[in-house]
Amino acid sequence: MAMMFCPKCHSIMVPQRNDKGEEVLVCTKCGYTKDIKGGTIIKENAEEKEMVVIEGDEGILPKTKVECPKCGNDEAYWRLEQTRSADEPETRIYRCTKCGHTWREY
Ligand SMILES: [Zn+2]
Ligand SMILES: [Zn+2]
Repeated sequence: MAMMFCPKCHSIMVPQRNDKGEEVLVCTKCGYTKDIKGGTIIKENAEEKEMVVIEGDEGILPKTKVECPKCGNDEAYWRLEQTRSADEPETRIYRCTKCGHTWREY
């Protein structure tokens, strides 16, 4: 994606979320904010890729004995997640049965 510049002061604009959770571009210098239409910003933040949400399906997810790194509970739901790239191994995703903490194992 091309770098965006502030129409007011021509400083670099960076993607952020506003208080509604919408993606906007914000000028690093004067604070000018621009809406992003159509989700043109591709997230490359590694931290966001780590976020995994397992929704709803506790009834069908298998459980295993594994220690939750957050609360120390010894049982978690798990499933395998296929990564998009063929040369990366699949990842096992755990979710604590007690506190709901989600983590992954490589
Ligand atoms: Zn500006
Ligand atoms: Zn836990």
